[in-house]
Order: sequence, then C-alpha cells, then structure tokens
Amino acid sequence: AISNGANTYFRSKLPDISIPDHLPVAKYCMERAHDIADKPCLLQNTEGEKSFYTYGEVEISARRIASGLLNMGIKKGDTIMLLLPNSVEFVLFFMGAAMAGVVITTCNPFFTKNEIGKQIYGSSAKLIITQEANAEKVSNAVDGRSDVKIVLVDGKRADGLGGDAVSGVHLHAVELLNASLDGFQEVEISPEDLVVLPYSSGTTGLPKGVMHTHRGLVTSIAQQVEGQNPNVWFREEDVVLCLLPMFHIYSMHILLSSLRVGASVVLMEKFEVGSLLEVIERRKVTIAPLVPPIVVSLAKSPLLTSYDLSSIRFLMCGAASLSRDLEEAFRARIPHAIMAQGYGMTEAFLLSVSLDFAKHPFPSKKGSCGTVVRNAMMKIVDPETAACLPRNHPGEICIKGNEIMKGYINDDEATRNAIDAQGFLHTGDIGFVDDDEEIFIVGRAKEIIKYKGFQVSPAELENILMSHTSITDAGCVPKMDTYAGEIPVAFVVTAKGATITEDEIKEFVATQVVYYKKIHNVYFVEQIPKSPSGKILRKELIKALETQNSVI
Ligand code: AMP
Repeated sequence: AISNGANTYFRSKLPDISIPDHLPVAKYCMERAHDIADKPCLLQNTEGEKSFYTYGEVEISARRIASGLLNMGIKKGDTIMLLLPNSVEFVLFFMGAAMAGVVITTCNPFFTKNEIGKQIYGSSAKLIITQEANAEKVSNAVDGRSDVKIVLVDGKRADGLGGDAVSGVHLHAVELLNASLDGFQEVEISPEDLVVLPYSSGTTGLPKGVMHTHRGLVTSIAQQVEGQNPNVWFREEDVVLCLLPMFHIYSMHILLSSLRVGASVVLMEKFEVGSLLEVIERRKVTIAPLVPPIVVSLAKSPLLTSYDLSSIRFLMCGAASLSRDLEEAFRARIPHAIMAQGYGMTEAFLLSVSLDFAKHPFPSKKGSCGTVVRNAMMKIVDPETAACLPRNHPGEICIKGNEIMKGYINDDEATRNAIDAQGFLHTGDIGFVDDDEEIFIVGRAKEIIKYKGFQVSPAELENILMSHTSITDAGCVPKMDTYAGEIPVAFVVTAKGATITEDEIKEFVATQVVYYKKIHNVYFVEQIPKSPSGKILRKELIKALETQNSVI
C-alpha cells in the first residue's frame, strides 16, 4: 500500500506491466490469428452445427462483417445492438463491429419488448443483430422507426429466399458474412473511441449505458493475460468454457482474454448440470468460469463422479458473493483444480482475482477476492465522508485505472456521482483490504439486487409498480435466498379502496420484465420509509425482512 499523507492506496502485489493499449480491441485480440490460423478458436456443441471455427475463419469472417456493416451505411461511431445468446455469430459480429469502429451495446436476448426498446432508444442503436425467434419482439420494440434496422443470424431471409420475410427484418446475416472485401480499408481507431456499451444500474437508479473505450477494454484484458508472471491464468493450450452469457462483461472478458492468448473457446448457451459435465469431459475443458448458483448445483450434484473432470485446471467464480462454506464444499469435490474468486463490475471489468494454490507466489485466504489488478489503484473510503480508510477497515471500494468506464451515456450527473474528482470509480461495495493486500467484500451500500449474478435495478421495478393505478408508492429490495443469492421483493402502498392482490401485482410486473427481475413477494405497507430528501430508506425495508416484520 502507498500512503500519501492521510490517503492509503492499495496496489497489486505483482509489478505493473506494459500494456499495448494503442491497439484497438479486435487487433489486440486477433493479433496472432494469422500465426494460428488452423487452430480451433470457437467450439460449438449443438448437434447439426459446424463443430468448430478456426482462428483464420473467425478473423476473415469478422473482416467481412466489418466491410458489410460499412457498406450498408453503418459508420464508425454508430452503435449496434447484439441481442444474441452465446454463439459463433455473437463472436463474429462483436469482432466485426469492433473492427469497423462501431460501438456494441450488448443486450439480454430474454429481455421483454419494453426492456429491449428502452436500450435501443437509450443507446441510439441503428442496427439490431438477433435470431429469428426474437424477430417479432424486436420488431415491436423498434416500433416502426425506420432508422433502426434488424439483421437475423438464422431462419428466413428478408428477401424471401428460403421462406417468407419476417416483418421489419431488413437483412440476413449471411449477406454480411459474405460481404466482399474488395476496397475494404481498415478503419482508423483511436484508443479513446468507444467500443462496448453494456447496461448497468451502477450504484443507484435505472440501467444506464456504460461507456468503455478500446483502451479500457484492452487494458482490462491485458491485466489478466500479459506479463511474465505465474498469475497468468489463460494460456494458449487452454480450452475455456463460455457458458455464462457473453452480453455481460464477465463472460465477454473471458471470451476476449481467451482469443488474445490463442486458446480454444467452448460455446454453451444453457446451463444444465449433466450437459455441462458432458461437455467438460468431451472437450477437455481446462478453465471453467462460473457463478455461485452453478457452483451450488455442481457441489451438490451426484453426477459429478460419473464424468472425467481431470482436464480442469482452473475454476473461477464471480459476479456475486460465494459463501466460504460453499467454496470449501466445491473445492473438496474437484480437489485437483485451482479455484479462484473474481470480483468484477460492469463499470470496471475485473477489479481483482484470487488464486489459491501452493505454487502461486502468494496464497490467498478463503473468502478473499484476491488483490487488486495490476496497473490500477484501489482505495477504501468512508461512505459518508469519502475519507480514505486504512487497511482492515471496511468502507466503500473504489478503483482507478485505464480500465474503468468513461462514464454513463447521456448521463453526466450519474457519471459525476460514480467517478470522483481523483478519477476513482465508486463501486458501492463495502469491503476491506487486509495485511496481505487481500480484498474481502463484506456488504453492499448500493441499491442493486443480484439474482444468480444478474443485476436487477430496484428503481426499474419501482417505476413499473408505480405505473399501476392501484399502487401509490413502492420500494424494492433484495431478500436473501439460498439458491439465487438474492430475490427481488416489493413493499407497496395501495391506493385508497384498491383491492389488488399480491398475485395480481406479481403478474403485472412479470409481464414486463425478464424472468430474473420478477417480484417474489409483495408486502403491503402503510408507507415507504424515506429520508427527508425523499430517498427510500432501503436499509429499513431490508431490516423489516430480516426481522420478518413486514409491517413498517
Ligand atoms: P455487475 O455490474 O452486474 O457485474 O455487478 C457488479 C456487482 O456484483 C459488484 O459491484 C458486486 O456488488 C457484485 N459482485 C461481483 N463479483 C463479486 C464477488 N466475487 N463477490 C461479491 N460480490 C460480487
């Protein structure tokens, strides 16, 4: 730790590295594609599909897509939306768009029409890449705006060839994948140009577009894979599982780190214990990034002993807190593997990773999220006064480095609230750094609810609830749940004389949101506790849940 007068800043235990952050993301990740052109890059697991794509194929397809996007009038700096599950197309379009200098807003394909519509509008996306199964939903979300085009990666072609055209669909992905490279000129990209725009509610309010530049993304990948040190957890010979949805930065980061080192990526769309274990055995997976609910399923599954999992050398868990008991139970079932916890956030990518094995230069304690990434600085501050706290004192975790976001799109106020004058991003997580530079997360000062690692914004649910004529006020908070980690619950105040039931309220919300934002319990109250400035006192609501006293 570095002490600067009263301020204590924490750094990685490993030395800083040199980061080639002048390179745009696609170039950085595909730098070695020519050298390893015949090596399998993407491995698919669905029957009937081409079983793998080589680095050479991925590179040329991405280049064609870049050319096709520019030919169809998408310009450098424009935004397109990827509304796709984990798939070859996700990777090809991501890389192609990045090569063209286009900004990619990633969106959950399970989102409802309303949720997708809000993100299209908020991000000013000009093009949406999706599957036929979502064509109608997306077409409705676009709502007749002629400046937003839709491209399908499967199913029927817009020109009617091979089937009827789906209304509102403008192009089929094959036309971009077959785009000519004649006259294609590489787009000049500056490290400060935006490249991805995932959505996150941050510490408060509604989901917002998180602006990440080429430099930010390259820095974050480099923090995991560059440099001469034994902490490097991605190697060329690795076979990396990409099961978690790539629209979220956790899995997007895993994908891009794998490409940078020239590893093979196993694409999986859905989690089911048996098929996951079967894929690990058949593909000889060496790195498996997971989230706590999957760890719970695996730790308990009797199937674990029926498969050969000896190929796994590294298991990672992140996106939400993992209890120490569970970490222990899981470790005991796959004892030969290194197990690590990663701590990440959409606004900062990866803040820290822990590794626990004896060969490692430094051991890591149970429950620790490791030490801060290289080329970055961490401080722990008093959430009330923002004063720096010394080690072993819990406070708000803040991080500074080239990898953090530039800000929230079209929301300067939220950006100012998130990044302080010294350039530190305030995470809203409460934790401390111990005597060995290890980070422990002990709580959360922000509003978000984390259902199986997915973000749920209470403000979004409250807005939906308040749009119901029978509800006059609402407050949503997380309730602890053994399987999902947290589930969203609502406290509501109903209008005088209203007879609305809990089930009706749940149904009203459920029709408007993706499955993990559904409200699990409704508590009817006289009023929602608020501060003098009108802020919901969520701590009081959470306390009421803990004491099982829903009447406030
Ligand atoms: P997201 O932006 O969806 O990735 O959510 C980021 C938030 O998830 C963090 O600010 C933490 O609150 C939580 N989180 C992520 N990783 C961990 C972890 N390893 N332990 C505890 N909480 C975590």
